[in-house]
Amino acid sequence: MNNILGMTKQDLETYFLNIQEKKFKATQVYEWLYQKRVFAIDEFSNIKKETQERMKQDFDTHFIQIEKKQEDEMTKKYLFRLQDGEFIEAVVMMHDYGVSVCVSSQVGCNMGCAFCESGRLKKVRNLEAYEMVEQILAIEQDLGIRIRSVVIMGIGEPLDNFSNVVRFIQIINDAKGIAIGARHITVSTCGLVPKIYELAKLPIQINLAISFHAPNDELRSRLMPVNKVYSIPVLMKAIRDYLQVTSRRVTIEYVMLNNVNDSIECAEELADLFQGMNIYVNLIPYNETNHLEFERSSKTRINAFYDTLKRLRINVTVRREFGSDIDAACGQLRGREIE
Ligand code: SAH
Repeated sequence: MNNILGMTKQDLETYFLNIQEKKFKATQVYEWLYQKRVFAIDEFSNIKKETQERMKQDFDTHFIQIEKKQEDEMTKKYLFRLQDGEFIEAVVMMHDYGVSVCVSSQVGCNMGCAFCESGRLKKVRNLEAYEMVEQILAIEQDLGIRIRSVVIMGIGEPLDNFSNVVRFIQIINDAKGIAIGARHITVSTCGLVPKIYELAKLPIQINLAISFHAPNDELRSRLMPVNKVYSIPVLMKAIRDYLQVTSRRVTIEYVMLNNVNDSIECAEELADLFQGMNIYVNLIPYNETNHLEFERSSKTRINAFYDTLKRLRINVTVRREFGSDIDAACGQLRGREIE
């Protein structure tokens, strides 16, 4: 059965037309769900009883549960329990410009990046669109706030769950829905090249972030197995195509691993790759985990890397740290819960 939170407005319009109802009922349902936050179909008072009964047969309205919450001043991390008992995580970050949330797209991940906690536990399944929508609704309800921006950077590889992720984006972007602007939605990928070409063609102009993490194939293939399938030259071509089609600046994420990818030579190589392109590099201080041997680069090494990129005229920022005290590295809470 479809969960009602996984329906785009267009899906609902088709549904209502199919049951001999008015198309605008879809908008009314969206208003109940996303403006009034009423989830019980019985209470949709502008929808007639008979249609409500029909909807109750056709739609599931289960809500994910907050299993655990860990927080500090700037960050709140949620562990959710799904209907089938699986666990996923989402992290809320309080910025001065508003609240953003990092959502998961899969239960586990198959990309196997050497430094990443999520990949220790293989993919169990994709998340349905409604399970991504629910992460946002549950957090907004719990904190009594509105989320302003969404990054799909939690557990999972979003482009390995392409159609559900696109559906999720359509739902939260809908003006009658949660109404999160396309410019406030970011998808982060380890580099599934064919899907980057597809993403470029989407009508909704969201932000793309690429987890790059190494400036040459030798090192990148060691850190990220996906690079053996889609090497740097192939990925660069996809990024160029994306830039050309969308004219949207792409974010290049680069996690700083002590003495692994953080030398001045690496910075120079990276600058060479992206010279003149409409990108910016976001340096991410590594969140150390108990199970993996990687360490966070020292402040000095991060600064030197940053300065080198700056000097070579590459736009660069260092990600402010969020939640290293509360195991915010993707997959840490879930890993612990399962053990
Ligand atoms: N699969 C997607 C999105 C999820 S990972 C992707 O690869 O982009 C989100 C980001 O966090 C990626 O850049 C990932 O490489 C990075 N990351 C993974 N583990 C990390 C850790 N322990 N500390 C800091 N960043 C990490």
